[in-house]
Amino acid sequence: MNERDSEIMGQLLAAANYIPTGDIKQADVIVINTCSIREKAEQKVYSLLGRLKNLKKNKPSLIISVAGCVAQQEAERLQARMPQVDIVLGPQQIYKLPELVAKAGKRGKLQLAVDQSPNFAIPRYSPPSPAVINKKGDDIEAGQFFKKFVTIMQGCNNFCTYCVVPYTRGRETSRSPEDVIAEISHHARHGVKEVTLLGQNVNSYGVSSKGRLKYVPFPELLKQVSAIDGIKRVRFTTSHPKDLSPELIKCFAAIEKLCPHFHLPVQSGSNRILKKMNRKYTIEQYLEKADALLQMRPDIALTTDIIVGFPGEKDEDFEATLKLLEKIRFHGAFSFKYSDRPQAKSVGFDNKIDEHIKAERLRILQERQNDISLLRNKEYEGSVQLVMVEGKSKSGDGQYSGRTMSNIIVNFEAPALTPGQEVFVKITEGLLHSLRGIVA
Ligand code: SAH
Ligand code: SF4
Repeated sequence: MNERDSEIMGQLLAAANYIPTGDIKQADVIVINTCSIREKAEQKVYSLLGRLKNLKKNKPSLIISVAGCVAQQEAERLQARMPQVDIVLGPQQIYKLPELVAKAGKRGKLQLAVDQSPNFAIPRYSPPSPAVINKKGDDIEAGQFFKKFVTIMQGCNNFCTYCVVPYTRGRETSRSPEDVIAEISHHARHGVKEVTLLGQNVNSYGVSSKGRLKYVPFPELLKQVSAIDGIKRVRFTTSHPKDLSPELIKCFAAIEKLCPHFHLPVQSGSNRILKKMNRKYTIEQYLEKADALLQMRPDIALTTDIIVGFPGEKDEDFEATLKLLEKIRFHGAFSFKYSDRPQAKSVGFDNKIDEHIKAERLRILQERQNDISLLRNKEYEGSVQLVMVEGKSKSGDGQYSGRTMSNIIVNFEAPALTPGQEVFVKITEGLLHSLRGIVA
């Protein structure tokens, strides 16, 4: 979601005649798009701002902007303690960036925009532009013009007790299907072949604040998106297990373009902890849904998110999480140490877990998951996969890199190919984070 927000801000600045640079010293405007989901992400923002202070000293006209969830939540602290910051921009206000950059340049005083009214103002009718660079200064759009993230809803109503999102991104609001289809059709006309529909909980897409269906349900939106000419692959993220419906599961058999990858965050393998997290499902219900998905689409790759060291997590709760890993054998898992987030209910929970215990549990879990991921990738050996080419492989050995329908990276040898092209690749080796192969 943040990547999509960065892209939108990049496009907005490009439309205001700014061009991206890989050399920070040359920048006239720096936008730090931030995430406050975990404490570590937030600390990184402050340390980067510390480093930018000197840059601004040498170039007082430099405009430094902090956007996203840290901006939303830390607006006052940023204002009081970070005089080098010119613009503070909440996640719902990113479309105001060019206007605030112009004002900051003229008036030289802090520009603040942190209202929480949902807004889908997206520069969607501009052609895909190479306007965003990543940390290393590479153009993240280069070679990636064929795939797009498309926001279909904002905010979240779930209030998991550890989570900051409902506070930083506000309540759930869906974008109209007409708007979504118009944006994707536009992208398709400009060569986009793959879209990922984005929302914190896509399964409640289309539901109004009063709980009634305002637009079409998510499975219907998926059908409409898949019918767009030129779009070959459709993905989505994220789906909350409690809301994963039989209709959505059926889509995996009914919609050919729907990619067989499902990110279904479980968070913990212990019912006691799930309850304290306010996740509203049990492990038994989770397993039932995972099973139903696999029955519908046996080649589906399941991935998940896990938090270790939630307040009160005992050894046996952690063991239950490890047991779940073995049982489902996820293709991949993002795992995190629990951290207190301002406003989240769990801040007030008893029995916080020591840092070193959290670190040890994370290490054990990641080790176990790595073994499973490697074996999962080895299962592809000898098979032929339809791969969408992303570009030359990062290793610089002239190989190409692409992704299977199930979202696994494949590095392979091939004659000249263009990004967005689909080719059959015979998989020769499964590694921890990727596959190797040759064009079939
Ligand atoms: N909407 C998605 C997740 C968004 S946040 C969902 O419901 O699953 C991405 C992940 O960050 C979460 O799945 C969770 O595993 C992790 N996370 C969120 N808050 C956290 C916290 N306070 N400490 C550690 N990890 C956290
Ligand atoms: Fe956070 Fe839970 Fe909403 Fe996901 S569903 S964004 S974890 S509150």
